[in-house]
Amino acid sequence: RITVAAALSAALSLSLTACGESGDVGSSGDETVGIAMPTTDSPRWISDGRSMVDQVKGFGYGATLKYAENDPKTQVEQVEAMIDDGVDALVIAAVDGRAFTDVLRKAESAKIPVISYDRLLLGSDDVDYYATFDNEQVGELQADFLIEQLGLANGSAKGPFNLEVFAGSADDNNTGFFFDGAMKILQPYIDSGELVVKSGQTKMDQVTTLRWDGVRAEKRMNKLLDSHYTNERVDAVLSPYDGMSLGIIKALKSHGYGGDGGRDLPIVTGQDAEVPSVKSIMAGEQTQTVYKDTRELALITSYMVNAVVHGKRPAINDTSTYDNGEKVVPAYLLEPVSVDKGNYKKVLIDSDYLKASDLR
Ligand code: BGC
Repeated sequence: RITVAAALSAALSLSLTACGESGDVGSSGDETVGIAMPTTDSPRWISDGRSMVDQVKGFGYGATLKYAENDPKTQVEQVEAMIDDGVDALVIAAVDGRAFTDVLRKAESAKIPVISYDRLLLGSDDVDYYATFDNEQVGELQADFLIEQLGLANGSAKGPFNLEVFAGSADDNNTGFFFDGAMKILQPYIDSGELVVKSGQTKMDQVTTLRWDGVRAEKRMNKLLDSHYTNERVDAVLSPYDGMSLGIIKALKSHGYGGDGGRDLPIVTGQDAEVPSVKSIMAGEQTQTVYKDTRELALITSYMVNAVVHGKRPAINDTSTYDNGEKVVPAYLLEPVSVDKGNYKKVLIDSDYLKASDLR
């Protein structure tokens, strides 16, 4: 029986082979890929690590997988150790995108190719390729969802509605893409007065959340509620990541939102389709998430690895978006998908990304 994951993988391989440029022969068996992941705190990165190991093994490579538990220094040391161990390629999902300049120079001298995974490595020439999702589109999907749910998209409601916005970690290059993608859509409604941000905090540097930390997001939400919403309700919250969304919802509940006799929870977005958030969506608390199939990301990355190790050019579909300050890194961007109560079964379970039993 062919699983959906295998079929998906086969379809993606076909489309890549059709591009004719990826390395099609696997490793001879004695090559290893060093994989550096940010944290095991978030289920998404656990899936990424697992899929990456599976995929490179599928190509015949060995794998060394390390998690840095969100500590930039630890992660740099882990990558340095991989270089010293003589890995044949590096795949890095950085905690701090700017922390790797020196290490990458070392990789370059040792002729070890480097693939930036999901998050762009910044300030270095020595990054060969970048595999990620269309990050601006992630923000667009979150903002579109808010506007539609509030009834502003089709004019069925005029507002004004109260909105607060959150952004991710300032040291992650994706943060700005998500935020700008969302604000491009939200700003005109703020300008027209249909959306009101009572705190006045609408600039990215006012709303970032170090390391995407749910507890930090919860604290900021508590503060916002205490300072600006004692007599008014929040109608919508732009949250860029599921772990933060759950922190925000906790703060809201502690202020009388949700539950019996409370005010309705606002619309709260998210990202990653992590199990606790999908459960929250099923329970009618978090409203939306953005699903990014990490199996596809791992597959595309493994293609890139295999191609560069064989001195070939992998398939890419973007050559202009991701300037890391030293070069525009050629990239392959995958499509994110908006998920809510209405489509989570079809999108997440029918694709085998999550099991129905995970959500019980
Ligand atoms: C990823 C998101 C994730 C966030 C927090 C970002 O770089 O692209 O998918 O939600 O990090 O882990």
